[in-house]
Amino acid sequence: MEDLKLKCNCGGVTGVVSNVKPGCGNRLVCYCEDCRNFAKQFDKADNILNEFGGTEIFQIDPSRMKINHGLENISCLKLSDKGLYRWYASCCQTPIGNTVGLNLPFVGLVHSFIASDQNIDLKIGPIIGSVYTEHATGNPSDELKAGKSKARLLLTIMRKLLIWKIFGKGSPNPFFHEDGKPIVEPSLVSRNEI
Ligand SMILES: [Zn+2]
Ligand SMILES: [Zn+2]
Repeated sequence: MEDLKLKCNCGGVTGVVSNVKPGCGNRLVCYCEDCRNFAKQFDKADNILNEFGGTEIFQIDPSRMKINHGLENISCLKLSDKGLYRWYASCCQTPIGNTVGLNLPFVGLVHSFIASDQNIDLKIGPIIGSVYTEHATGNPSDELKAGKSKARLLLTIMRKLLIWKIFGKGSPNPFFHEDGKPIVEPSLVSRNEI
């Protein structure tokens, strides 16, 4: 078992996902508009999004993840009142990841926060599929748009979430206090501002 190193662009925030192996989380591409709008908050959106407007995400159980350094540089925004908590490193404007809250135990790490100086494919395995492919932009292939084996992928995601919930893998959670309050108050960014 290996550790997956996490780091923002400038190194002001670092962290780790412990004991990873291929299949321990869900490595996927999300084409939903909110993930895309989150990426567009940052100057380097082109580095975050793929050519069809998708964001590569690695979903893991929160208890596996730790912030080692730079907690004070972590900021949070929401694109709507009921939207996900979207975390980023304010030191260099690097997206970190998405969470819902303590009752849905997962962190969707954005690839930009996964340190590139390690063999990511070897540590966590390949991308297993895509979600919200109907919202892909540009000229995606029919195969991508159709969301190949989407049902099976959703089942895989749901099964992991359920297991993490049952086994209490939601805590400790690097982004929430035990009472469920986020470590920093999110700012609400209206979609119109994007
Ligand atoms: Zn999304
Ligand atoms: Zn930084």
